[in-house]
Amino acid sequence: ESNMRRGLPTKRGIVGVKHVIAVASGKGGVGKSTLAVNLALAVASFRKHVGILDADIFGPSIPRLMNLKGEPQVHEKDNNLMPLVNFGVKAMSIGFMIGDDAPVVWRGLMVYWGELDLLVIDMPPGTGDTQLTISQQVILDGVVIVSTPQDIALIDARKGVNMFKKVDVPILGMVQNMSLFVCPNCQHKTHIFGNDGVIETSKEMDTDYLGDIPLDASICELSDLGTPIVVARSDSYNAECYKDIARKV
Ligand code: ADP
Repeated sequence: ESNMRRGLPTKRGIVGVKHVIAVASGKGGVGKSTLAVNLALAVASFRKHVGILDADIFGPSIPRLMNLKGEPQVHEKDNNLMPLVNFGVKAMSIGFMIGDDAPVVWRGLMVYWGELDLLVIDMPPGTGDTQLTISQQVILDGVVIVSTPQDIALIDARKGVNMFKKVDVPILGMVQNMSLFVCPNCQHKTHIFGNDGVIETSKEMDTDYLGDIPLDASICELSDLGTPIVVARSDSYNAECYKDIARKV
């Protein structure tokens, strides 16, 4: 049954954009924005045209992560906003539009992206209105759900999976963040929180498991410097973990 017949808004594609994926999480602070940015940069490193839309209205972090400042210009022809660009990736963020009264999600979608192979949307955490609006109005190729392996995060991650299933957004899979610790001395790998919580949860929810991102200070430090690990240390094990996930989405 079509959305129109059910009285729901009709989903639309974004002009010039071939694929759109969302990166979501049940809880804040689990590494969602870090994943969104590094996935976008990883796909760009495969010679694709990529954009990232920061829809995390409560804590827009794409400007800092992408080392971007300033106000987007308005495109003459259609009044759409022009994304800013760094590391070869186009970016639009609510963070560029502080002080703007227009309904935030709506403005976020009125962007002149040009031709893109992939647009990554960094969702707000949880299952609120913004996530629902985007899921119901934009044709999403799918959503990646990121979680840490702790029970509390996993409970919320399950809610996220269920919400996206309800609005017919394909679940591309789950990513486990900050569980794996690689010893800097001997390279020994341990899951410091014991079990593989996200792997178990993805089985239980019947979704794919896309991979593990290690808990590593360099990921955090390079993010803070505005040089994400996928560009700053593109050959490192950590960067490879993000690229590995990027190959699957
Ligand atoms: P969210 O978008 O889920 O709120 P962020 O991506 O902003 O989370 O990450 C929260 C904090 O954790 C940031 O300081 C970030 O640099 C750090 N972080 C994210 N992933 C990792 C990781 N794998 N290892 C170390 N620190 C990480």
